[in-house]
Amino acid sequence: MNDTFALPGSDWPTLLPGWVWLCGAGPGDPGLLTLHALNALRQADVVVYDALVEPRILDWAPQARHLYAGKRGGKPSAKQRDISLQLVELARSGARVLRLKGGDPFVFGRGGEEAQTLVQHAIPIRIIPGISAGIGGLAYAGIPVTHRDVNQAVTFVTGHDQSGQTPSSLDWPAIARSAGVIVIYMGMKHLSQIAGALIAAGRPAGEPVAIVTEATTPAQRVLETTLGTMVSDAATAGMEPPAIICVGRTVLMRQTLDWQGMAAGLAPRHLDPLGRDDAAQTA
Ligand code: SAH
Repeated sequence: MNDTFALPGSDWPTLLPGWVWLCGAGPGDPGLLTLHALNALRQADVVVYDALVEPRILDWAPQARHLYAGKRGGKPSAKQRDISLQLVELARSGARVLRLKGGDPFVFGRGGEEAQTLVQHAIPIRIIPGISAGIGGLAYAGIPVTHRDVNQAVTFVTGHDQSGQTPSSLDWPAIARSAGVIVIYMGMKHLSQIAGALIAAGRPAGEPVAIVTEATTPAQRVLETTLGTMVSDAATAGMEPPAIICVGRTVLMRQTLDWQGMAAGLAPRHLDPLGRDDAAQTA
């Protein structure tokens, strides 16, 4: 299978023994891997992967040892320091190490911390960005994170603080004012506090919200709701993490841009969900 996808050219970087490549695996769909990720998967002796890495992606590294280093809610999980030190030890043993993380390694994934530890231990590293769930996952749901008619800024927020407990350390009034579109990672546990905080800070209860679970995988689900009703709607629909929550009017674009629905035969629900006339649309 690997030969089918021979990478053209000869200047692809070589993963050398003793190195760690910290690589994003994208949000799920293996087709969203980068070519650098694929190049890394083919060379690694060991792949240390997270809970959110789609298992099919590991099939691209049949020669490598696959080590799970995830942190999953409710299950005993490796401590961050232990994972980082394990990477150091693997590299020192002379292995070609691929550290594979969901989405982009530097977006809410502690990739920065792991990279720092590696550098502190004089382990040479390469960083391979990936498609973050808050961008690519929403695109699969037919939601552009920016649209010229809606927002000039987008805010990415984590719904957990460092302790994983409450988002109380975040300045929700500032977040509410910051941008027309707010994309929340890891927000399901604190959905009602987040909704309450945004409404209290002045975002309208009727503002459109989309919750996208297991984005870009065959199990992807999309719930269209509003700030005021998202808690009960998510419970009724049984939405479970991992989920991206998108607050803002770009969510309405899904009425036109639900490309997966259209591929499955659904008609667009609205050709101009913002209700502008044709002249404005083409301006
Ligand atoms: N580095 C990752 C984010 C890690 S934090 C990235 O760039 O995407 C983990 C959170 O990411 C999850 O709790 C969820 O909010 C989000 N996430 C990751 N993959 C996802 C997916 N396939 N569908 C929905 N949310 C996802």
